Amino acid sequence: MENGYITGHLSRKAEDYLEAILNVILEKGYARTKDVAHELGISSSSVVEMFRKLDTMHLVCYRRYEGVTLLPEGRRIAEQIKYRHDTLKQFLLLIAVPEDIANADACFMEHELHPETVRRIHNFIDYMEENPSFCQQIQHHQDLSVR
Ligand code: MN
Repeated sequence: MENGYITGHLSRKAEDYLEAILNVILEKGYARTKDVAHELGISSSSVVEMFRKLDTMHLVCYRRYEGVTLLPEGRRIAEQIKYRHDTLKQFLLLIAVPEDIANADACFMEHELHPETVRRIHNFIDYMEENPSFCQQIQHHQDLSVR
């Protein structure tokens, strides 16, 4: 997928919501308010305000008793954030960052890095996957150097 500049106008918080909604939809097929709140680690009452805001921006459709669906532009942004998250997490795992830290740092970097950087990292991962012995060397070197 193309990973052009995502938003510019959207806050990091809004991007996180769209990503969380997509993750819940991919897991369950639909996104109820409480499931998205759980995914974000916050209370149901505090997600509603952002749902309404994203609804007025035509990024999601929010129905009080049904939850949220992603509208096309919201889905596009959510997929780009997820692509960034997955790419950056994979990279961090490749250099032997522990999974919980890799996840948290991917969530931070996914909003900030230049698209060209993400694209280059993605290419690098592709190359490494074709050369598993390099991966093993990196992991081995990291294991030695943290001792
Ligand atoms: Mn994330």
